[in-house]
Amino acid sequence: CLVGIRRPTKVLFIAKRSLMAHNINHILSKKVMDRYMRLPLPCNKILATYVWIDGSGINMRCKDRILDCVPYSPDSAPNWGFDGSSTGQATTDNSDTVLKPCAIYRDPFRADPHVLVLCEVYQGETQVPVATNHRKYCADLCEAHKADEPWFGLEQEYTMLDNDGWGLGWPKGGGFPVVKYQYNYCGVGSKYIAGRDVAEAHVKACLFAGLDFEGTNAEVMHACWEWQIGVSQGMKGPDDLWMSRYIMGRIGEDYGVDITYHPKPFGHLHPGVGMHHNFSTKRMRSDGGYDFIVECLKKLEKSHMKHMKVYGNEEATNRMRLSGKFETSPFDKFSWGVANRKASVRLQRNIKKKGKGYMEDRRPAGDCDPYLVCGMLMETCLGPAGG
Ligand code: ADP
Ligand code: MN
Ligand code: MN
Ligand code: MN
Ligand code: MN
Repeated sequence: CLVGIRRPTKVLFIAKRSLMAHNINHILSKKVMDRYMRLPLPCNKILATYVWIDGSGINMRCKDRILDCVPYSPDSAPNWGFDGSSTGQATTDNSDTVLKPCAIYRDPFRADPHVLVLCEVYQGETQVPVATNHRKYCADLCEAHKADEPWFGLEQEYTMLDNDGWGLGWPKGGGFPVVKYQYNYCGVGSKYIAGRDVAEAHVKACLFAGLDFEGTNAEVMHACWEWQIGVSQGMKGPDDLWMSRYIMGRIGEDYGVDITYHPKPFGHLHPGVGMHHNFSTKRMRSDGGYDFIVECLKKLEKSHMKHMKVYGNEEATNRMRLSGKFETSPFDKFSWGVANRKASVRLQRNIKKKGKGYMEDRRPAGDCDPYLVCGMLMETCLGPAGG
């Protein structure tokens, strides 16, 4: 008989092992996708993407749910659970972890009426934040110092990597660009910059979403860029920064570009990646504010090492970045100066002239948590939340 019964053969691995998953998202047809994107939905259904910081303290996760109306405030979006043991945020035997909405944005990927929901993460239905939830710490300080009107301006630097994990547009096989770094900052031309479309798409998407998005520029290192969030009042600064990271991750999927915030991605011979935190209070911005800024700088000097402990996702990699080279100050030593880009904290020249303004803390790494940095700045300069 020709049609026999085939015994199933046991196939263990069909795929060849390789070190990294290929980035495939950008190859899938966006034209086909558009057919589905244009389908009208029932009028009582909207999509909400819940977004949170995972157990790594730098990577983000998201999952989607259908809501029956648009939540215009975080209170009107329901809490939601997830398996925290798969994100490094709970143990397997006690894995119910809760997402608590804290900010709502328009969804730039699906457009209106769909939303992005930034969430805090709690252990089960308790009031206990998980280890990487530093938002409550920052929010408590914002609340305690509401009358001081803290403002933040955050400069997020980042590096674009190609599918092979090497710098976008960098010579293949681990080579380094020959063009000297002095040409790349705010550079124009393919020899000097790579990935402008990614930065450009990010600008539009962040503005659509409703972030305090301020600007963007190419950085000193090839395929390294920066965007700024600010000037933002209180929690809007760090909240928007985290959401802008999420949006950048999604745009990276569309382009097949991996985004990294590693503070020293190519070792000690190449520039680092930071997130300068610009900070002011009402008093600093008012006449005579310069003296108060100097008062705060003295407090910051005393607490320097306490800040350095939390100014990056890992102390060791920020230490690599803060080498005293490439416009950085040494990791262990606090300094401040007017117009000095090699100081821990820089004051712009016209701040001294006007006698008021803000300070620029240049110490935080690209992969820092702005909730921690903004919180620490308020705690050291203005006092603890309970004080
Ligand atoms: P640079 O690269 O020279 O440090 P940027 O323009 O990239 O300058 O960043 C300056 C930052 O300072 C912006 O993010 C802006 O929001 C912020 N900033 C300006 N004024 C204030 C202020 N009064 N308080 C806090 N931050 C401010
Ligand atoms: Mn499931
Ligand atoms: Mn800048
Ligand atoms: Mn910069
Ligand atoms: Mn700066």
